Amino acid sequence: MSTLRFELDAAGVALVSIDVVDRSMNVLTPALEAALAAAVERIAADASIKAAVITSAKSNAFLAGADLKELVSVYGQETLQQAYARSARLSGVFRRLETCGKPIAAAINGLALGGGLELALACHYRVLADDPKAVVGLPEVKVGLLPGAGGTQRLPRLIGIQQALPMLLNGAPVLPAQALELGIVHALAPADQLIARARDWVLANPVAQQPWDVKGFKVPGGVGCLAPHAVESFQAGTSRVARATQRNYPAPPAILACVFEGTQLPIDRALRLESKYFATLLCSPVCRNLMRTMFIQKEAADKLASRPAGVPKSTFTRIGVIGAGMMGAGIAYAAASAGIDVILLDATQELADRGKAYSVKALQRQLEKRATTQQRVNTTLSRILATTDYSHLRGCELVVEAVFEKREVKHDVIRKATALLGPSAIFASNTSTLPIGGLAEVHPRPEQFVGLHFFSPVEHMPLVEVIRGRSTSAATLAQALDFVSQLRKTPIVVNDSPGFFTSRVFGTYVDEGMAMLAEGIEPALIENAARMAGMPVGPLAVCDEVTIELQLKVHEQAVADGLNEKFQRLTAIDVVRKMVQEQGRVGRRGGGGFYDYPANERKRLWPGLRDLFAVREVQPEVEELRQRFLVIQALESARCVAEGVIDRPADADLGSILGIGYPAWAGGVLSFIDTIGAARFIADCRELARRYGQRFEPPADLVERAHRSALYHEETSGFTISIPQGDLEPIHGGQTG
Ligand code: NAD
Repeated sequence: MSTLRFELDAAGVALVSIDVVDRSMNVLTPALEAALAAAVERIAADASIKAAVITSAKSNAFLAGADLKELVSVYGQETLQQAYARSARLSGVFRRLETCGKPIAAAINGLALGGGLELALACHYRVLADDPKAVVGLPEVKVGLLPGAGGTQRLPRLIGIQQALPMLLNGAPVLPAQALELGIVHALAPADQLIARARDWVLANPVAQQPWDVKGFKVPGGVGCLAPHAVESFQAGTSRVARATQRNYPAPPAILACVFEGTQLPIDRALRLESKYFATLLCSPVCRNLMRTMFIQKEAADKLASRPAGVPKSTFTRIGVIGAGMMGAGIAYAAASAGIDVILLDATQELADRGKAYSVKALQRQLEKRATTQQRVNTTLSRILATTDYSHLRGCELVVEAVFEKREVKHDVIRKATALLGPSAIFASNTSTLPIGGLAEVHPRPEQFVGLHFFSPVEHMPLVEVIRGRSTSAATLAQALDFVSQLRKTPIVVNDSPGFFTSRVFGTYVDEGMAMLAEGIEPALIENAARMAGMPVGPLAVCDEVTIELQLKVHEQAVADGLNEKFQRLTAIDVVRKMVQEQGRVGRRGGGGFYDYPANERKRLWPGLRDLFAVREVQPEVEELRQRFLVIQALESARCVAEGVIDRPADADLGSILGIGYPAWAGGVLSFIDTIGAARFIADCRELARRYGQRFEPPADLVERAHRSALYHEETSGFTISIPQGDLEPIHGGQTG
């Protein structure tokens, strides 16, 4: 089997079929790039070849874009010039393809993303499968890149800047009908007729030239700052991008600049400009972090990288959910949507029914959005039995409890349920704070007890924190992971410890916000600095959502349990007490907390805050606050590794981004430390400790790692993180070529 098949027919039409070896889907591997380059040279040089049709031998995809596992290694290993050469090499192949003097058509028989669409755009004619799965798009921005093989230049030249920018900036693919309407493809056809249609076209058009190679070509809609759309596309676009990214992601502004400058240049110079922008992004830590955590490590976690080996895979058909409140109702909905029968149990029939009504509403919304059918709605609802009768739990393979956060209540339901379950059934608790080991004590087979910490709202949140108690067996852990996978969520595995991982790290974030308030920092500055760091919601706003009262309860429970000071909420407790006990402001659900929530208006910071916590005359730099938010969470995560709460660094990184909104640009909490380097991180921590207190003191394990120059992510060890700068001339449209 070869990467590229080359067949020549009697009419002189070469059929070039992409079939990347050992991959279920075609991706741009170095071997494919080399094979494409050779094929293009052959088409150009061989006089017996009159035309060519490029397609894929795999039915699921034409070409799905770059091989991220290969690209992720560029950061720190290649110079800017080498990264530039990568892009320029492929770009050169595609340019040679479109200027070889022979007509070339793409028969796009499946999805074409990134380099796949760029290859198709370099062909003179594109016919796309009329199948909703055959989407086309340029998703590079999602991994911190821009399309580096002509995408930023050919797409705007084809469909206009105004239409191309959203595709480049959002990275969202478009369906075949939209691709046709936009003019990205020339025609749609049934999959089995694509090659014939492409062949007919090349035979009917023996002289083919790209529009941008025709003298007098003009980009549709115009280019530069005088184009009618320029104000909207570039000026408004720049501020929209700055707002959305908080200037933490270099790719979107680079895309805007590359399109603005490149479309004013001849295509060859524009392609070189694009390669320069591409190289700068590829050599940036943000790109590496996004690729590694959000794609490579997420995929590994989704494939259950932490699953103990040797345990047969389990498939769940019937589960019980006890407690039909906010979390139980969500878990029931998620499980029923994944095809699992659910016994949803609460203390009264009314409460159980209310829990099921959550699914009714959610499905109704899906129906309104046309994301489902009435038949699927009926089937999903028929899978949920709302009841108060424990006997229905007989035959369940798993029971998840989501009752009140009280140990006695949980013990009671565990006892009742396990009396009815078969010997192989596992039991999971959705507790957010109670140790799994303590809950498992009342289970007759504690090795079959595990924590499954879902996030709210369950159907939207992609993460589940799987907690291994001291008795949890490997088989139970494996089954719990199988269940999470069946729900199509991403699991991380955490060892039992107060607050587990995500709640513990999240606690440091909200506490830091409250500490700042106590220091006299302007409340709006606190909230904005957190968002500028990349956190989706400011610490005071998020504290209001989960309730300030909850912070008090967690602290009091930690004290009552005799937990070490580090598990108490000492940094913030004075602020919490003032708000809850003195002011009766418990959070949003109680009518108000750090914010007021006027009816029919946007929430606003409670004016009383400035009286309660006197605002200092001189305010700190926003950068310092931003740093405190990022560092305190990373530091707590380093402690979790040192204490054995986290075994795999990837779990910390994924958990922090998917569970609590730590910024993806940083690659997660531990990638943040790796990126700036443990030695510098420690120096920063010590300076913060000197100014703000002991909580910033780095743990011994981290100090020792810094001495060994060890990184959390081993595959990245052995190089410095400095980004090579100045190897290339400055990026400027006018100065290229
Ligand atoms: P909730 O108050 O909305 O729901 C709890 C439900 O349990 C209620 O419907 C209640 O009637 C029912 N219940 C109480 N005692 C029962 C019993 N003996 N038998 C049957 N049903 C009983 O609470 P919630 O927010 O859904 O939280 C449930 C659990 O999930 C808690 O352990 C909580 O810590 C955890 N959790 C909550 C969140 C969150 O964001 N709310 C996130 C993760 C985990």
